[in-house]
Amino acid sequence: MKFANRFGNFTEVGEKKGAAMSLPKSDLTKQADGLTTMELGAVLPKTAAVEGGHLHIGGVDMVELAREQGTALYVFDEADLRDRMEQYREAFSEVYPNSEVLYASKAFLNKEVLRIAAEEGMCLDVSGGGELYCARMVDFPMERVFMHGNYKTERELREAMAAGVGRIVLDTRIELGRVSRIAGELGITQKVLMRITPGVEADTHEYIKTGCEDSKFGFTMLGDFAFNCVEDVLAAPNVDLAGFHCHIGSQIFALHSFREAVQVMVEFVARVKERYGLEVEDLDMGGGLGIAYTTADRPSSIYEFAECTASAVKEFCAEYGVKEPRLLVEPGRSLVANAGVTLYTIGIMKTLPDIRKYVAVDGGMSDNIRTALYHAEYEAVIANKADEPRTEIVTLCGKHCESGDAVVLDGSLQHPELGDIACVFGTGAYCYTMSSSYNGQPRPAIVFVKDGQARVVTRRETYEDLFDRDL
Ligand SMILES: *Cc1c(COP(=O)(O)O)cnc(C)c1O
Repeated sequence: MKFANRFGNFTEVGEKKGAAMSLPKSDLTKQADGLTTMELGAVLPKTAAVEGGHLHIGGVDMVELAREQGTALYVFDEADLRDRMEQYREAFSEVYPNSEVLYASKAFLNKEVLRIAAEEGMCLDVSGGGELYCARMVDFPMERVFMHGNYKTERELREAMAAGVGRIVLDTRIELGRVSRIAGELGITQKVLMRITPGVEADTHEYIKTGCEDSKFGFTMLGDFAFNCVEDVLAAPNVDLAGFHCHIGSQIFALHSFREAVQVMVEFVARVKERYGLEVEDLDMGGGLGIAYTTADRPSSIYEFAECTASAVKEFCAEYGVKEPRLLVEPGRSLVANAGVTLYTIGIMKTLPDIRKYVAVDGGMSDNIRTALYHAEYEAVIANKADEPRTEIVTLCGKHCESGDAVVLDGSLQHPELGDIACVFGTGAYCYTMSSSYNGQPRPAIVFVKDGQARVVTRRETYEDLFDRDL
């Protein structure tokens, strides 16, 4: 079966045409890792602790919270979230003061996370009218908002420009024409960045790669197309070219990919200076820093990422003889993924000898599509047995009508029993924002926990919500 992931890559899944999406064969030789919760290290949110055998986050007992709020439930460690935003701001202001950190809101979006991002001094990436609407609802400073997307509709462009967003990131020449015309109609000059496809192959999971040449995003460098289009942008009325943008992929562990992208971009900036006499204000290197989904993952730190990117910009600007631009980065996943967990109640178990053990939770691909989509890996524990070692290998499957509906494939887990509360870590990014109501499943509530307090920031979807729009 062929399907598209959110980056538009098409991937073969399943053996034969028309076959249902199914799980990869289980490795029956895999041994449980014997770890207890606190031994999971970087996968855990900052304030994770175990007391009385129960997992606590933000000083709140996850087992009690699950009972009070019901499951499935998204829980965010607010201290972790704020801490990562502060680390990004501090790291970049230390190594490259003329910089801004943009939160890529598509990773996790609700009003509260945007209020926090504003408080923490972030700028904001939005990639459509809906994300922009949320930013406007919380009075996010519009001059700090950047609008992305390979096809922003006429309406989205008009709303963004009328609202006064700081930058529109141009993706195509067709869009240049629209932005120029709308800016004229609104009587404004719109600052824009051009998104360039630098042809850098990010060293990451092959499904998540956007910098390579075959991409629906941005102006290609092939045949010097992007370079020649700079002339069009400079000639267009009501538009002011503020700089260039690239985004080479996501969940990237190898920092050298960013360094290579910086080199390509700075060389581009230097050629633009030489040919058009323009020294741009902004260089936006996108997001993509990887995080620890499993105990085997060894991501670079936020500080290392800042150091690598900033030193590459300084080095290549000196080498190519251009002034150092303002440096922008757009992290999504690395700000929110590890701050979030999902709680579920285990309600069905089924062992197929020599095949696998299924442990079903009251959610699945509706609240976390990543496992079904590209066999993403996660760590899980039983929140009410958090100090016990993980002694079994199980597949945490969902409750949806798809064979491929799973949250954790062949993961270590404490001995599961009906009624246990499972906690899956690292679900703060690209789970809620990619959620659906498949099978009529209402979306989970979102709870922020901090200093022993739990507050619902997004209420659970109701059955009425699901069909409210039907006439
Ligand atoms: C998705 C995206 C990001 C964020 O990527 P992460 O991997 O979540 O850090 C940043 N910029 C652009 C243009 C994106 O599409």
